[in-house]
Amino acid sequence: MIKTRNNKGQVRSKPFEQRLQEQLDRAVTNENGCWIWQGAMAGSGGYPVIRIADQTQMRVSRIMLERDGKPRPSDKHVACHTCDTPSCVNPAHLFWGTHKDNTQDALAKGRIYIPHGEHLEKIRTKAKALKGIQKPHLRGAGNPMADPAARQRQIDGVRRYHDQRRATKL
Ligand SMILES: [Zn+2]
Repeated sequence: MIKTRNNKGQVRSKPFEQRLQEQLDRAVTNENGCWIWQGAMAGSGGYPVIRIADQTQMRVSRIMLERDGKPRPSDKHVACHTCDTPSCVNPAHLFWGTHKDNTQDALAKGRIYIPHGEHLEKIRTKAKALKGIQKPHLRGAGNPMADPAARQRQIDGVRRYHDQRRATKL
């Protein structure tokens, strides 16, 4: 965290604008004109964030659009990239889109993988199996008869036993 001391010797955070400007100065411009953020990142996709207050971070892409005189149209809008580079904070590469726009854009650019065919089947089977495990009363160890196949095997076994006994008696 970037901190300075005031004239009373107390530790104080630098003003937000100053911290943002320092981070923007550190950003690395790549061959596409992207400003690659070198500061804090958040989320699984790694998007640039900056602290706006204690314990509160904000996406830099959003701040950059607003600073560029483009206020967020609604709370459904998110800052999207035309350059498809999540770590880029160049306002010229940013636009307001809805989550739907963003998802469709990601689909079109192949950022999102949609499972299909055999792979989709595998995922569904696994999801089903996990669902069973999450319900303790359906766990095989606690209740072996919870599994319909196991129950059928048991019934078949008993039936076979009785059939055999009947056969030996005849
Ligand atoms: Zn960019």
